Amino acid sequence: MSMNRGQAWDLLTKYNKEPFHLRHAITVEHVMGWYARELGYGDRAEFWSTVGLLHDLDFEMWPEEHCEKSQELMRDAGVEEYIWSTSGDSRVRESHKKLNGKRFRWDDPPVVDEKTGRRCHPGEDYECRCVALAVFDFDTIDLPIAA
Ligand SMILES: [Zn+2]
Repeated sequence: MSMNRGQAWDLLTKYNKEPFHLRHAITVEHVMGWYARELGYGDRAEFWSTVGLLHDLDFEMWPEEHCEKSQELMRDAGVEEYIWSTSGDSRVRESHKKLNGKRFRWDDPPVVDEKTGRRCHPGEDYECRCVALAVFDFDTIDLPIAA
């Protein structure tokens, strides 16, 4: 089950206070929800909206550690899993294409190099532009539920 809008908003505003960042988060939330419906994923629109709302979660407070810090903040909030998502263009390396759309745990990174058995998370390989889409789970999430 996915995180609801109130929980996602609480997580966002815990780390983001500036109106510019909040407005940007809401804009991307709406854009991603709109595209989900437009492209025939209407039943998953809420999930994609949440991904959009939280995509820059760490940027206001930790601009130098953008994306790396998000992982920590999401894990703090009880998010243990993510879906590997490539940028979907021709520059994505083969080994990452195979991981696209699959679900992994933060404490168990997937193998990205079958020869050496090396493991990593999205964005950790050299010049990798892949991102981790958080999988929100009501049962493990550690946030006050809004009444
Ligand atoms: Zn990649």
